[in-house]
Amino acid sequence: MNRFVYTSSPARVLFGSGRTAELPAELARLSARHPFIVSTPGGAVQAEKLASLVGGRATVHPRAAMHTPVEVTEQALVRLDQLGADCLVAIGGGSPIGLSKALAVRTGMPQIVIPTTYAGSEVTDILGETSGGVKTTRRDPAILPEVVIYDVDHTLSLPPALSVASGLNAIAHACEALYAVDGNPIIALLAEEAISALAASLPLIARKPSDRGARERAQYGAWLCGICLGSVSMALHHKLAHVLGGSFDLPHAETHAILLPYSLAYNAPAAPEAIARIARALGSADALTTQLRTLMADAGLPTSLAAIGMPREGVGRAVELALKASYPNPRPLERAPLTQALEAAIEGTPWNDCPDGAGGKYNGK
Ligand code: NAD
Repeated sequence: MNRFVYTSSPARVLFGSGRTAELPAELARLSARHPFIVSTPGGAVQAEKLASLVGGRATVHPRAAMHTPVEVTEQALVRLDQLGADCLVAIGGGSPIGLSKALAVRTGMPQIVIPTTYAGSEVTDILGETSGGVKTTRRDPAILPEVVIYDVDHTLSLPPALSVASGLNAIAHACEALYAVDGNPIIALLAEEAISALAASLPLIARKPSDRGARERAQYGAWLCGICLGSVSMALHHKLAHVLGGSFDLPHAETHAILLPYSLAYNAPAAPEAIARIARALGSADALTTQLRTLMADAGLPTSLAAIGMPREGVGRAVELALKASYPNPRPLERAPLTQALEAAIEGTPWNDCPDGAGGKYNGK
């Protein structure tokens, strides 16, 4: 076996329907009395429900925005200081969790997070922040939330298209963990289990969003995917998603979902073992082409970057940014194939750059 380093996460996880009711007890465990509850504007009702659960000393701040803009964090920081809050609570997807993390790393406050999507941010020590149109990412133990409550009840309202996009965002974490430069056998086990759980549950959710069993399985898979993301380095796929999200303001989950077959096709020639494990977890060698693409279309999810707002003339800048400060990747980043892959992703057309056809199974050729 190769030498490796494995670090486990100290986060406390409560999993199961109805566990949000334990929020007051979790606040007490942290000796917190004045929670500052963050959500997106769309999640304000859920945040208000949490506030009523914990009594009059909570403040709701429903201003989180995608890609964690620094100016949104600075405004929240002013309010948080004025109120004398002593704990952060986030309810929602990666956006409110991002705001909570940005506040935690600036104040040292503990965090309790209640995820409602499958993005996986809740179990990572990673924070991506956007300033001046550029998204930068950092890792710090102070970013990792202390408590996560996975309560399936909050996920039932996630629309089918967003559920599938978010689930594919999670699957991307596990895929890249399988060829990470600092990967290890424990994370590889989690990654395969995570992909299997999501691949089995997402089609059921797309057909019947109220399927609680499928929702729980997806949440379990998303948790494991988040552990993968937080434990090892990410590669080309995450770099491209950060570039497109931060510089072209594309929606996070959909960008990940649409890009995934192209990133895997780019890396397929250099990471055959990882690709074989992904295929095994998905249950079929051409699952990314057939099952998952069909799933995206059936759930009403766009399959091209152009459909979610990527300008065709932006390819050159995107490639430039991807090549700059690139993440470690199994296949070296080369301008020409990367440009071709992005051009194909913009159109949503199949793309294959494997001379021997090895990547073909993953991109529709
Ligand atoms: P999001 O949090 O922006 O939510 C997307 C939309 O879905 C919002 O309008 C929200 O109100 C709505 N929504 C969320 N849950 C819902 C529910 N259960 N029912 C109905 N509507 C719901 O989206 P996201 O994809 O979860 O997060 C994206 C952000 O998270 C990005 O900024 C990304 O960079 C970040 N992220 C960070 C990490 C990390 O480890 N640092 C990991 C993944 C994602």
